[in-house]
Amino acid sequence: MAKVSIRSVKFARSVVRRFYMTPCRCISTASEPIVDAQDSKPKAKFNYRDALNLDSQLTEEEILIRDQFRAYCQDKLMPRILMANRNEEFDKNIIPEMGSLGVLGPTIKGYGCAGVSSVAYGLIAREVERVDSSYRSAMSVQSSLVMHPINEYGTDEQKEKYLPKLARGELIGCFGLTEPNHGSDPSSMETRAKYNKSRKTYTLNGTKSWITNSPIADVFIVWGKSEAHNNQIKGFILEKGMKGLTAPQIHGKFSLRASVTGQISMDEVEIPEENLLPHVTGLKKKLADMLTEITIGLQACIQVGRLKDAGKVTPEMISLIKRNSCGKALDISRQARDILGGNGISDEYHIIRHVMNLEAVNTYEGMLTCCNPDVS
Ligand SMILES: Cc1cc2nc3c(=O)[nH]c(=O)nc-3n(C[C@H](O)[C@H](O)[C@H](O)COP(=O)(O)OP(=O)(O)OC[C@H]3O[C@@H](n4cnc5c(N)ncnc54)[C@H](O)[C@@H]3O)c2cc1C
Repeated sequence: MAKVSIRSVKFARSVVRRFYMTPCRCISTASEPIVDAQDSKPKAKFNYRDALNLDSQLTEEEILIRDQFRAYCQDKLMPRILMANRNEEFDKNIIPEMGSLGVLGPTIKGYGCAGVSSVAYGLIAREVERVDSSYRSAMSVQSSLVMHPINEYGTDEQKEKYLPKLARGELIGCFGLTEPNHGSDPSSMETRAKYNKSRKTYTLNGTKSWITNSPIADVFIVWGKSEAHNNQIKGFILEKGMKGLTAPQIHGKFSLRASVTGQISMDEVEIPEENLLPHVTGLKKKLADMLTEITIGLQACIQVGRLKDAGKVTPEMISLIKRNSCGKALDISRQARDILGGNGISDEYHIIRHVMNLEAVNTYEGMLTCCNPDVS
């Protein structure tokens, strides 16, 4: 296991510099400007390992965190994955191992968490994903779907009670949103929470399905419609061992085989009212997908624009973002048209015009520029 926890990297600039010299750094030497002997103008060299020179946007600390965690992933996780995948097994020890490295809930400040940047968290997730999505899934459920909601929407007492143990991996968490008949459409969920005024408790009934970590979980973040809140969707914290709570495993999964997935069954599970996450309501998807693609596309464009101004651009970079921008714009406009139903084909709603235009734009920019990146 890598010896240095990411909690201790904040001031380790000398260590960072040492990492720059180690062989594993060579994977990320991005397109540096090189000087052509004939013509003194600097020319960039395309590096397919880091096509848009991502490294140039990272801090030293982020690079150090990434490289340290890469060492753990390659040394400790990689040797386990083949058999774990073959045998459909998840080694529970991985969670405390990750906890000892400080990568659980790593963006959270306090409560024993590392408090690193969101970019560092992304780099951590990428390293574990490089080994297997199963391990990334177990880690990101714990961090993003269990610790994050408690930290963002929980009470101080809930944070004190759960976050330090989740950060160390002493507790394993799961997130129960999906139901057997309501996956993409959580607003139709059937799980109900009834408030018992005299006992100051909620009683939950319902079934969640395809829940990562549920069979091994100690803490369950469960979403259900609360009668006491006009049937709005609310989050509740359940704990292993509560009466009426079971979490059977789903076997025969031929994807993410090295993560454990199951159901959450709640039959009159009574929880104290303090286990409600008080500061959160609601959800939505198609628009979030569009915003995600647009935002990511724009980030790639600004990076290539900056690289171009710095004389570090290559034709491949331009092709890459043009193809992406055109293809995604077409997908998004088609989806936006679909959301509007019949109105979506009326020119007064504008979107059909964009769809038709983008069909052509995608043909001449998205496809053609694969061969000729200078066409604009
Ligand atoms: C390995 C694994 C781990 C998971 N872990 C978790 C977890 O930890 N917590 C959790 O809450 N959930 C988890 N899920 C569940 C996951 O979020 C759902 O599978 C997902 O939301 C899709 O829901 P569904 O399976 O019910 O499919 P459906 O919603 O039935 O979708 C099936 C197909 O129908 C399409 N479709 C759905 N609705 C419409 C519509 N209105 N119009 C047109 N097409 C539509 C979808 O695009 C899709 O192609 C996990 C799933 C898997 C496979």
